[in-house]
Amino acid sequence: MPSAVIVGMQYGDEGKGKVVDYYASEADIVVRFQGGGNVGHTVMAEGQTFKFNMLPSGAVRGKKLVIGNGVVVDPEKLLAEIDMLTSIGKKPDLLLSERAHVVLPFHKVQDGLEETTKQGVGPAYADKAARFGLRVVDLMDDEILRQRLGVFVPLKLKILKEAYGFEAASSESEIMARCVLYRERLRPYVGDSAEFINDALDKGKNVLFEGGQGALLDLDHGVYPFGTSSNTVSGAACTGAGVGPRRIDKVLGVCKAYATRVGDGPFPTELKDETGERLREKGREFGTTTGRPRRCGWLDGVALRYSARINSVDAIAVTKLEVLGGLGRIRICVGYEYGGKVMRGFPSDLKIQYSCKPIYEEHEGWDDLSPGEWKEVCAKGYDALPSQMKSYIERIGEIANVPVCLVSFGSEREATISLARIFDKGTEPCRLQPTERPRRQAGNGFYLGQAASG
Ligand code: GDP
Ligand code: MG
Repeated sequence: MPSAVIVGMQYGDEGKGKVVDYYASEADIVVRFQGGGNVGHTVMAEGQTFKFNMLPSGAVRGKKLVIGNGVVVDPEKLLAEIDMLTSIGKKPDLLLSERAHVVLPFHKVQDGLEETTKQGVGPAYADKAARFGLRVVDLMDDEILRQRLGVFVPLKLKILKEAYGFEAASSESEIMARCVLYRERLRPYVGDSAEFINDALDKGKNVLFEGGQGALLDLDHGVYPFGTSSNTVSGAACTGAGVGPRRIDKVLGVCKAYATRVGDGPFPTELKDETGERLREKGREFGTTTGRPRRCGWLDGVALRYSARINSVDAIAVTKLEVLGGLGRIRICVGYEYGGKVMRGFPSDLKIQYSCKPIYEEHEGWDDLSPGEWKEVCAKGYDALPSQMKSYIERIGEIANVPVCLVSFGSEREATISLARIFDKGTEPCRLQPTERPRRQAGNGFYLGQAASG
């Protein structure tokens, strides 16, 4: 029952969509387990760019897709993605958890009044926790739907009016009518996804769990309150998909070669200078869904080590390495200085987060190559990479104390070097084991064998 979870190790947008698409070649099933329409995953493959908010990135390869119970489903976005794929002959083979919660129009309104993403995700999770939510299964039954909406729609509309002065245009009956439309279109996909995934694992199928956002945005472990409304760490795959922790074999963390962040909140390694601007332009650091410019900075090793631990990451995929090309010297933060002391742990205290001074180590940079040149280098394999870049990659593994299993040099599938398969059990451990002591035990399920085909 080989299964792997792929999660972001930073503030999201690490390139999880690309890495999931890459490793989906080996998977039978790809599962989303948290987040909602606020997740934006990009896959560039087969000459096209796909942007997913609701569907797992395994969609491009035509894999069996599951949206687990931990997701808050935006029916409109989901149906639009289904329609888009169907129109290009890639109708998704989707199973939607009957236990997943539904984002309703007033959630988006509330989100728009409180925040900027307007995806309704925060309010939908808040209502779920307050037991005011509507599950997909409730949507399927007329009587229950009417009963549920009757309980919370008048209350929600009242809250919107009194707390925000917002006079909702839609009445309870309009919301009911909209829900009935969603029901008719979603019904063919709905089922018990936990049962399905557990059965598939029993049969030895390869299951890939796709995380959204990143560890530093996790509701519990991230930089509260500047994160997201769900748990984004690997453990959330269990609760958000309905599998026990012993059914997860491997955890793969995706780490961008530098750091980016969307929205407010502390960001110790942020670069508010030309270098930051250069990373933003060269790395095209603008939100997948919102187009908002992302804040950019140096790689934060303190956060990376923390992330590796709370996710129990077994191996790291490093993305966007080519973006650092031509910079001369490159920095990695290896500690925070605060109150005259050096901190190696990731602080929960916002005051420290805001005012700590990053301690950097410097690395020699490498040349700026064109996308075509990077693809040529990729085709030759890891050993053909510039030696400075190899040192940088190996240092990332060392800091996180886990091997690096994939390196990426562009958005396309081809701009990738895989150093390990994630599902096949070979005999050799993943190359690029970290050298720092104590060394994490090798043989954590990542094997060199033959690299994944991509
Ligand atoms: P996700 O949310 O983690 O899936 O990441 P996003 O899709 O929001 O943002 C990552 C962006 O970087 C996407 O546009 C990807 O196509 C792109 N990307 C992924 N890997 C690489 C890479 O190695 N180099 C470059 N230049 N872009 C990449
Ligand atoms: Mg994204």
